[in-house]
Amino acid sequence: MPATRLYPLFADLSRRAVLVVGGGVVAERKVAALLGAQAQVTVNAPALTPRLQRWATAGRIAHRAEPFREEWLERVWLVVAATSDGELNRLVASLAQLRRIFVNVVDDAALSSFQVPAVVERAPLTVAISSGGAAPMLVRLLRERLEALLDPSLGALATLAARLRRRIRLRHPQPAARRRFYEELFAGPVAALLRQARPDEARRTAEQALTAPSSAPAGSVVLVGAGPGDPGLLTLRGLRALNEADVILHDRLVSAEVLALARRDAERIEVGKQAGHHHATQDEIHALLLERARAGRRVVRLKGGDPFVFGRGGEELQFLRAHGIAYEVVPGITAAVACAACAGVPLTHRDHAQSVRFVTAHCRDSLDTLDWRALAQERQTLAIYMGVAGLARLQTQLIAHGRAPATPFALVENGSLPRQRVVTGTLAQLAGRAALHAVRSPALLIVGEVAALAGALAWFGAPPLGGAMPAAARRQVPAAATTRPTEIFTGTSA
Ligand code: SAH
Repeated sequence: MPATRLYPLFADLSRRAVLVVGGGVVAERKVAALLGAQAQVTVNAPALTPRLQRWATAGRIAHRAEPFREEWLERVWLVVAATSDGELNRLVASLAQLRRIFVNVVDDAALSSFQVPAVVERAPLTVAISSGGAAPMLVRLLRERLEALLDPSLGALATLAARLRRRIRLRHPQPAARRRFYEELFAGPVAALLRQARPDEARRTAEQALTAPSSAPAGSVVLVGAGPGDPGLLTLRGLRALNEADVILHDRLVSAEVLALARRDAERIEVGKQAGHHHATQDEIHALLLERARAGRRVVRLKGGDPFVFGRGGEELQFLRAHGIAYEVVPGITAAVACAACAGVPLTHRDHAQSVRFVTAHCRDSLDTLDWRALAQERQTLAIYMGVAGLARLQTQLIAHGRAPATPFALVENGSLPRQRVVTGTLAQLAGRAALHAVRSPALLIVGEVAALAGALAWFGAPPLGGAMPAAARRQVPAAATTRPTEIFTGTSA
């Protein structure tokens, strides 16, 4: 049977009588939605779920325990039949139809004269989705997508727009100008301030925009952490920013999978750094940010992992602040957290490590300035962001400062991506094993007792490359001679 084309309708049920026949969990869900719309609900059922019972006791709903009576239909606007008794559902439906009262029989489109859509609520905004009963699973999928796409602050934005509506109409009597004003209101600084949980400033800014002479739209920058590479590990807020961006300035480390989620027609600029290649200097990145934002564009500055963890996000914000450019920050899942998760290595563990340190060892300078004695202490986990060239130094220094040569490590290459590899062993084997397996950047090193769990807790990608090193390999790759100098600066921006 082809699905009926439905006429979409938002009904005002406040203080209007609605009858729900049935007192189980399905009825309970329907009643909850009806109460949300302030309907006067009567529930007809011999027994109620505990929650329905509480509502009845509190006087929020009326309860009739006796068998269904036809005359109750006289005074109601809508009926919902949600019993497990098909005969009763059919009876209620046919009696309602006779009286031209809209009726919904749960999960029975043929008996229903109205259906309840799936909704995404951002009160006072409601998005309703229906397939007319044709494809409920597709509706569910769409609902989840929209739920992810629509920022929770949209409701507050709609409320603010409603409050200013009359004044906006007075100020911009011409429809074209009014539309421009609304576009700026919904996509510009006012919407940003609401996302930043600053409603008073949002209101003031909107009011100022109403009194000030009209000006060019203000650009802004959102500093977004892209996470470790798997697009599933991008935040919802990051996804929304990518959907709204006019310009995306991204590091090389940001995966193609994440970039594929961004608005198709956004201008994309790669500003990654890679040894031996031309790359934008930090000053050039700043200049690009400033130039695009001043041109009124919505810029997303997209960085691998989290922008505030070895990402120079702080410097970029200082620069933007100094130049009066509005910005937001969306955190990302940093490599240490993601790699640990994807390698099955808990960063802390009551039996093994009470603290974790995020360390960068990207170049000679950062290796020279590390506090080796502190790093060599036991019962702590080191999460070391690095180009793999420094591994031999790191191994030697940690052992020289007292960390046991038998301390386990897990070296995670391309963490969270399908091509992830994990190499495990003891500190004494670190550089040798990395060379044996030709580990390349990006790789994150975890050193500490917890790394021993990688073998037992592995769940993602290929099993860890552990075990004893073959004697032949040991002869071929003496620990100190295994570095590849070209990879020293292979990180993004640390
Ligand atoms: N801001 C980033 C780190 C930038 S420094 C973050 O929060 O993750 C770059 C270093 O991060 C790389 O050299 C590597 O050590 C680490 N890294 C980033 N992504 C990684 C990944 N998917 N797998 C392993 N290491 C990664």
